[in-house]
Amino acid sequence: MKKDERLRGYYDEQLETLPWEQKKNFLENLLQRAVMTAYEQAPAMRAKFEAAGVGPTDIRSLQDLQSLGIIPKAKMRQLQQASPPFGGLLGVDLDKLRRIYSSPGAIFDPEGFQADYWRLQAVFFNTGFRPGDRILNTFSYHLTPGGLMCDQGLSGIGCTVVPGGVGNTETQVQLMDELKLTGYVGVPSFLQAIIERAEQNGKDFRRDFNLEIAVTAGEMLTDATRNQFEEKYGVLVRQFLATADVGAIAYECGQKNGMHFADYRIIEVVDPETGKQLGAGQVGEVVVTLLENPVYPLIRFGTGDLSFYEDDPCPCGRTSPRLMKLVGRVDQVTKVRGMFIHPSQVEEVIAVFSEIQAAQAVVEREHGRDKLTFLAVLGQDSSQKELLSPLQERIRTVLKLRADVTFVQASDLREPDKRIVDLREWD
Ligand SMILES: [Zn+2]
Repeated sequence: MKKDERLRGYYDEQLETLPWEQKKNFLENLLQRAVMTAYEQAPAMRAKFEAAGVGPTDIRSLQDLQSLGIIPKAKMRQLQQASPPFGGLLGVDLDKLRRIYSSPGAIFDPEGFQADYWRLQAVFFNTGFRPGDRILNTFSYHLTPGGLMCDQGLSGIGCTVVPGGVGNTETQVQLMDELKLTGYVGVPSFLQAIIERAEQNGKDFRRDFNLEIAVTAGEMLTDATRNQFEEKYGVLVRQFLATADVGAIAYECGQKNGMHFADYRIIEVVDPETGKQLGAGQVGEVVVTLLENPVYPLIRFGTGDLSFYEDDPCPCGRTSPRLMKLVGRVDQVTKVRGMFIHPSQVEEVIAVFSEIQAAQAVVEREHGRDKLTFLAVLGQDSSQKELLSPLQERIRTVLKLRADVTFVQASDLREPDKRIVDLREWD
């Protein structure tokens, strides 16, 4: 199949291209219904409303959601143990479930009988799979929902699935080769391992294999890895975001410029301390509300993932905002001048400078203001003068904050293993 055919078209053109104001109305209508279901059917959700002092009819708009607290993923185990098995969050009787999974952290995840339960059909069509593709699905089919979740989404749009599961690299290479598989779903590093094994077996991956497209999740997809797959091996690569709790969250379109919010969910990016919604470009926690899911009526589930979104128009014509990238996990953030920064962002700043060997962001309090200093350790023969301005520019781009840059020796770093050192003292 030609690459352009994979890059154009919509799973649900009308919904995906609906002008944002209309789409917002559509989502808010579904939200009112979801809120009513949660309040009436899930005792733990009702308790949340009561604790916040709001009734189900008070939540009518996306903004109104802010009056309800977040259900943090980190608390799920605790909730489920206190009220087994689903923490009072299930909207149906236990005998109305198709499957019950157990995910890392010993969290149970329910799956209902409805078609496209995880809403991955749109994700897989829009990332470029087409009916007739034969796809190696290397997510786990064991206990966690990943494998079956993808299986359902792929077969739902007319693809043939080979349930490869995790590991067994040699077998997976053989399957990909002998069955002339056209697609791959899994983490990017495992595709890398498959390609390397094929090459060790004396194959020329680009010439001897038929792999046209890989859709990845679960691991950071770096630009370098994507470029290698696309340019060296001729494999189109797109990524999506989903979790075992809520299924689809966001996916890349043909434009490869961020992941559009998936449909039939409300995606918020919020301040993890206050639960308030953040604007475009601001880093915060990704929070998901499920719509049209009476089985698991989760309102404001905190995924623990940090990201930021942009809402400028996407050339693909889809109107939903895009999560630009995952920045890290919420338990590692530091708030500086109202912005959250994460250790991975410090690494991202220096990744483009081969001259910089190590770096550390130091946060202090000076005259009642947060002060950010970026310590950089240079290799020998590197010029501080030439690096200063590009480094400052890069810090502004990645951290979205201004920082003083100081060049230091490796021995000057305060706790060398830490990317962020917070020296502020609070009374
Ligand atoms: Zn797009």
